[in-house]
Amino acid sequence: MKEITLYNTLSRKEEIFQPISNVVRMYCCGPTVYNYAHIGNLRTYIFEDVLKRTLIHSGYKVKHVINITDVGHLTGDNDEGEDKIEKSARETGKTVWEIADFYTNAFLKDFNSLNLIKPDLFCRATDHIQQMINLIKKLEDKGYTYISGGNVYFSIDKFKDYGRLARLKLEELKAGARTDVDNNKKNPRDFVLWFTNSKFSNQIMMWDSPWGRGYPGWHIECSAMSMNYLGDHFDIHCGGIDAIPVHHTNEIAQSEAVLGSTWVKYWLHGEFLLTDNGKMSKSSGEFLTLNTLVSKGYDPLDYKFFCYSAHYRSQLSFSLPALDASRTARLNLLKRIGDLKKGKDYTIDEISDDSKKMLSEFDSYVNNDMSIPRALGVLFLVLKNTEIADEEKFFCVRYMDEVLGLNLDQSNSNNQIPEEIADLLALRDLKKKNKDWNSADKIRNEIESKGYIVKDTPNGSKIEKKI
Ligand code: AMP
Ligand code: ZN
Repeated sequence: MKEITLYNTLSRKEEIFQPISNVVRMYCCGPTVYNYAHIGNLRTYIFEDVLKRTLIHSGYKVKHVINITDVGHLTGDNDEGEDKIEKSARETGKTVWEIADFYTNAFLKDFNSLNLIKPDLFCRATDHIQQMINLIKKLEDKGYTYISGGNVYFSIDKFKDYGRLARLKLEELKAGARTDVDNNKKNPRDFVLWFTNSKFSNQIMMWDSPWGRGYPGWHIECSAMSMNYLGDHFDIHCGGIDAIPVHHTNEIAQSEAVLGSTWVKYWLHGEFLLTDNGKMSKSSGEFLTLNTLVSKGYDPLDYKFFCYSAHYRSQLSFSLPALDASRTARLNLLKRIGDLKKGKDYTIDEISDDSKKMLSEFDSYVNNDMSIPRALGVLFLVLKNTEIADEEKFFCVRYMDEVLGLNLDQSNSNNQIPEEIADLLALRDLKKKNKDWNSADKIRNEIESKGYIVKDTPNGSKIEKKI
């Protein structure tokens, strides 16, 4: 296992990563499925994918969970506004379930076309209402909640460490009072665990609970689902930087109030993607989707390569000319790799000391809080090096692509194969998951009869074109 340092938002320091057990357990806050993911959201998933790939590349086993928020996320993070999914349903004349399904599928498509490794589990909030109720009951038993105006609130004054992640100061908490409109709250920073008194007369998603028919607040879902699948204490929790002051702060408060001890060891946050007018966001109404980029002729991997032009903890300004430059650089890179003479398949033990040195330099950048722009620099140096044989260079490219996930050897991207084959692969994955080996084998044969090879790798199944 190689040593990895990660910047932990909790300590505001780079720390040597030491997993709690032999499987690294990692939870990433997923999309709220009321609209397409914008490319800023996708930047966060790309950073999380690099983190996961880095861990796997360094020899760790990873258990990874991403949630799908399909209820309870209001238009304001402090419980103000209305439920995003309900609002979207009303505006489009669709049902809430149709909205959630449609945008979940759109998200999964983006995820796939960016060549992100699927998590062990995508879990939907609406499938885990009982786990949320159980957690709220525990908080109630321990005296952390109060009921006001029909809603169940978490009382932050009862939790002495409130705001540790965000380094919130008491005065700042008070300042929040001016913007908050919920008069039921004892402290403006208190947050809703369960709504029974909906602000909207015809709320559709509702469940029975000990406090009456209603629906959960947004933050409780991540605590309930992550602990359900990863255990009470786990290694890594990620999200975008905007989650620090409210969402992750509240997740920590409610989870640690129940546990009575530290919940998650490492908190990692990706910085924003910016537009000319500041942070890219859906609420501003001005946002770009991956589909829009594809319809303009870009490959999703052009955008991924563009994201690699900055460290994940730096802001990154998006513009089409900048994306053009990334596209050109990526295509040049692919051309140079495509021109390498193929021959013997090298193993790490067989490559020269020069190559080994390069790979170790690459690893040192990657393992140093995922310094991808620098690691990419090493890839260019390898390709330029006149001492290294082409076949060795090809080995190095494949080695580095374990972390970069750019399909540099052009063999394994599902988005470059026909949709029919990608669908068959997805179906085979499902059959395998259900342990229906017979059907999985039949589908593999069908794929092979169409000129493609299925490879099962530690990162999931991959397709290669038969040569
Ligand atoms: P949402 O679907 O709004 O819940 O957001 C999904 C993820 O994207 C969260 O981890 C957010 O923190 C992150 N995010 C939101 N806006 C941006 C942005 N402009 N740049 C990078 N990440 C973002
Ligand atoms: Zn979350």
